[in-house]
Amino acid sequence: MATHLSKNAVVMLWIGLLAASATAEAAVKVVATQETYASIAREIGGDRIVAEAIVEGAADVHFVKPKPSYAVMLQDADLFISTGLDLELWAPVLVNKSGNRAIADGGAGYVAAAHGVELMEKPTSLDRSAGDVHIFGNPHIQTSPVNMSVVAANIATGLCKVDPQGCAVYRANLAAFQDRLARRLYGDVLVELLGTATLDPLARSGRLVSFLEERGRLADLGGWLAEGLPFRGRPVICYHRDWTYFASLFGLIVVDYVEPKPGIPPTARHVAELIERIEREDIGVLVSANYFERSKPQLIADRTGIAPVVVPMSVGGEPGVETYFDLVDLWIARLREAFARVDGEGGLTVAQLRGADGR
Ligand SMILES: [Zn+2]
Repeated sequence: MATHLSKNAVVMLWIGLLAASATAEAAVKVVATQETYASIAREIGGDRIVAEAIVEGAADVHFVKPKPSYAVMLQDADLFISTGLDLELWAPVLVNKSGNRAIADGGAGYVAAAHGVELMEKPTSLDRSAGDVHIFGNPHIQTSPVNMSVVAANIATGLCKVDPQGCAVYRANLAAFQDRLARRLYGDVLVELLGTATLDPLARSGRLVSFLEERGRLADLGGWLAEGLPFRGRPVICYHRDWTYFASLFGLIVVDYVEPKPGIPPTARHVAELIERIEREDIGVLVSANYFERSKPQLIADRTGIAPVVVPMSVGGEPGVETYFDLVDLWIARLREAFARVDGEGGLTVAQLRGADGR
């Protein structure tokens, strides 16, 4: 009897082990260039996937040295997510080195995050002679939550291709993520009143706030866009041309850049011109990603009193920034703080701004 039981126990143990290993093998392995994409893949994939990023959140994705260990990460990846423009020029080299053809551009396991995103700043002529690193249009799509809804859909489509059995789960998680994102961006009232099919194009073109103002409905605006009202229409200097989508969405006016061209380090002459312009036009805030050198922005701040705002550009770029929602929260909070400092304690609140609209 005892022998019989232990035989059963052994059989059960083996069944358990096989089931466990089958589950482990079934997990879809996702590798993304950036932590922001990996974090969105986790939202869509849930426990059907494991996702990791090649570069840390605080790294500059334009310039990554392709290490052999990165190619090893890609060897057994089922899905690879990259922006798909010229932001991660180092990525195709790594994919090539990994020998994993399924995740190469055009393969079933490749997701171009920017697919279907309406690109801004598309150059009219292709000229790399000046060293410009944005030759297809602005690749910093993650600065707009509207774009990230499209990115999430691209990731869900990619997951469905490599794991058709999980597709219903991915579609459901995508819908939930997009709904959360929209409610955080516009507030519940507008999402329920107008829906994203109306809101997204208005927001993308930067016309949503004026659309609401013209109809006397600005009070319906909630979420991040309402939180961003205090800095709407205000001029800023940016280090790099990476805030284009954010600026368009939130009505921030980027008047100049510390870099004379994207990817080109600032010259002393350009810095001197900027200092003169900041003083002449009374520009209050300078925004820079946390991976750029700090000396030029600091020099400009010391000379002009402009408030420097240093922020991560990706999930994981600073402690506590674990999701895309955390990232956008942080961007808005830092900008509000900086403008409040510039204005002194008497800066208008969101409620006051809405009140000023006549209701
Ligand atoms: Zn760039």
